[in-house]
Amino acid sequence: MIAVLVINSGSSSLKYQLLDPATETVLAKGLIERIGQPTGSMEHSTTGGVWRSEPPTPDHHVAFRAMTAAFDEHGPVLAEVGLTVVGHRVVHGGARFFAPTVVTPQAEHDIDELAEYAPLHNPANLAGIRAARTAFPDVPQVAVFDTAFHQTMPPEAYTYAIDAAVAERYRIRRYGFHGTSHKYVSERAAAFLGVPLEESRLIVLHLGNGASATAVRGGRSIDTSMGFTPLQGLVMGTRSGDLDPAVVFQLARFGGLDLDELDELLNKRSGLLGLTGTGDLRDVTAKAAAGDTAAQVALDVYCHRIRHYVGAYLAQLGGADAIVFTAGVGENSTIVRERSLAGLGELGIAVDPARNAAAERGERRISSDGSRTQVLVIPTNEELEIARQAVSAV
Ligand code: AMP
Repeated sequence: MIAVLVINSGSSSLKYQLLDPATETVLAKGLIERIGQPTGSMEHSTTGGVWRSEPPTPDHHVAFRAMTAAFDEHGPVLAEVGLTVVGHRVVHGGARFFAPTVVTPQAEHDIDELAEYAPLHNPANLAGIRAARTAFPDVPQVAVFDTAFHQTMPPEAYTYAIDAAVAERYRIRRYGFHGTSHKYVSERAAAFLGVPLEESRLIVLHLGNGASATAVRGGRSIDTSMGFTPLQGLVMGTRSGDLDPAVVFQLARFGGLDLDELDELLNKRSGLLGLTGTGDLRDVTAKAAAGDTAAQVALDVYCHRIRHYVGAYLAQLGGADAIVFTAGVGENSTIVRERSLAGLGELGIAVDPARNAAAERGERRISSDGSRTQVLVIPTNEELEIARQAVSAV
């Protein structure tokens, strides 16, 4: 037997999954939270059970050892399953990484340098890579980048219209994120439709805590709503999404906010949270249904923005085979799916109310039979995609 370990090492958490690449089944998975604090919380599950504990987690190395100890104690024992590769989620690959990459000292140096663009994420991703190398010195480590899938965007989609020399010097351009999810979901969607991937035209709406829309032609990203950072585009749990940059000047000049405060305002205290006091779409929906005006407005803004990108990408693609919803909100929220695409019959898009409201969970079609563009719900699986890409890179 062989196995792949997938690591998603965040600033204060470590998520992991052990998969059998032959059957693509999950052998074990877990989550360690509160890294950076003396004691963390941990959950490790296998086909045999779930174990919870509170191990010491002052840093990523200690947290990583808690993970390997959990495998030793509750199984599967990593030394026995034949670990062939460790796949790591890395948020920012800049314009340098467009494919899964075996981590060499040079690659590690480059990921470190790109931390300038993702100061919260890349250092945490690197900490996971270093801890994994210490724990498994003979197993290749592969970095799978959130930005990589969007490296196929043409210049007209990734270029911001600012002073070209300034942009070049500071590498200011659109990079795009959630690429692992957009890639996985667009491939599943083409298979679901029975359309060859090379001929498919899809709009993928990844609506989770972070949210982004991507236009995918022939299996390649041609435009995406996130930009230089994951702040641009759709309304998110705590991020504003699209904003006139002059708002920032105004708040600095007249509001007295410094750069860190502005960063915090737009990334952590905006979006659904800023509009309603909660960043969780379930709560916003419940409040709106109970008559809360702020929540109703927030839901309208959220869906209006999705619709804006759907229209834009229909035009960029010259029509689409399908619009695909995924991630926490996309997979679960009947109301967001319905409202975002309401009244688009003239464009050949019609959501079927009963299919949309059905309690099904898997890959499914929610458009009516007469809808020229199909509307699908495809659950994302970033861990499986990272495992596949890690295997393909070694
Ligand atoms: P993710 O980042 O993909 O885990 O998605 C998190 C988001 O999905 C949160 O805003 C949740 O409110 C939302 N979500 C999860 N379950 C549901 C649900 N049943 N209905 C609406 N939103 C949901």
